Amino acid sequence: MIFVFLMNQQADKNSDLSSQRNLLGLSLEELRVELESLHIPAYRGRQILEWIYQKRVTSWAKMLTLPVALREDLEIRYPLAFPEVVTVSGSHDTTQKFLLRLSDHEMIETVLIPASPALYGEDSDRRTLCVSSQVGCAYRCKFCASGLDGFKRNLRTEEIVAQVLLVEKISGERINNIVFMGMGEPFANFDHLTRALRIINAPWGIHLAARKITVSTSGLTPRIREFADLPEQIRLAISLHGATDAVRSEIMPINQRYPLSELMEACTYYVERKKQLLTFEYILIAGVNDQLEQALALARYAKRLRAKVNLIPYNRVEGLPWDRPSQGVQRAFLAKLREHGVAATIRREKGHDIDAACGQLRRRQLYGL
Ligand code: SF4
Repeated sequence: MIFVFLMNQQADKNSDLSSQRNLLGLSLEELRVELESLHIPAYRGRQILEWIYQKRVTSWAKMLTLPVALREDLEIRYPLAFPEVVTVSGSHDTTQKFLLRLSDHEMIETVLIPASPALYGEDSDRRTLCVSSQVGCAYRCKFCASGLDGFKRNLRTEEIVAQVLLVEKISGERINNIVFMGMGEPFANFDHLTRALRIINAPWGIHLAARKITVSTSGLTPRIREFADLPEQIRLAISLHGATDAVRSEIMPINQRYPLSELMEACTYYVERKKQLLTFEYILIAGVNDQLEQALALARYAKRLRAKVNLIPYNRVEGLPWDRPSQGVQRAFLAKLREHGVAATIRREKGHDIDAACGQLRRRQLYGL
């Protein structure tokens, strides 16, 4: 089922997302400094952000505790602009994929995975948003739809933050779990990523606990170390997908630059520095990385780091030759990991029917697919 939202009015109003001073891209401290430079009392900064993040208004006009003249002046300096919602595709399992058009007409996708007792058991009130961090991706993992069309550009801080606010507004759901597993390699957009993470985490911002936010990387090892040095306790997931250099390099070109030994050293640094466990994401692809030797090699890495392993049976992507292994092969792979004491699960993908599952996000609208 596809709903089309014609939000032309809002799109016209929000046509300029190019300013670095978009209100959604500013921290409380930065806003205070900006306001002080305009001789506006600093307390107005907190007031303005309360309207956005607590009261969830989407225009300056609705910030009623501010004098009208001040609102009008600040709106010109710091537009409160959101991407345009082009379509919302609803899956039969109620996963929803949001196709968003940015101010330069580039497209991104964001996926809402609603609460599901069947999927999460005790954690059944988990409403997860899978956020994009770039338009396209330069890393060209062979199995991934997001890399198929190449890299266009990084998302700006406000474009990352806006995904959360927009989806909450349209769906009426309060998101309580965010994963950076949408389009793009988050660590290749490190500055905007970390700024957005602080706004999402801050008490004056979206105020989502750090342990409810996970950033997933294909393995940019210098950035993993930098991430480990951040004060926030944000979780890390590694898109591993191969447990030997030969297999991983075949499907993930980044492994030629940062081979497994280097990647595992960076992971060890993260675990020791943060005192946090990490997750290995492992897409099972038939005949490529689903052999028991791979399971054994994966088990060694996971045990050493006490990492949890999420197995994700591959979702077919139009235009790519790969397929998912049989249920029997999936089960055998899982059993091998567990036999070696690894906490592993097979992730039951939601949203498969709308191409919103892992590795499937793509700027489809551009191609009329
Ligand atoms: S898996 Fe991640 S890093 Fe690899 S091409 Fe896809 S989006 Fe980029």
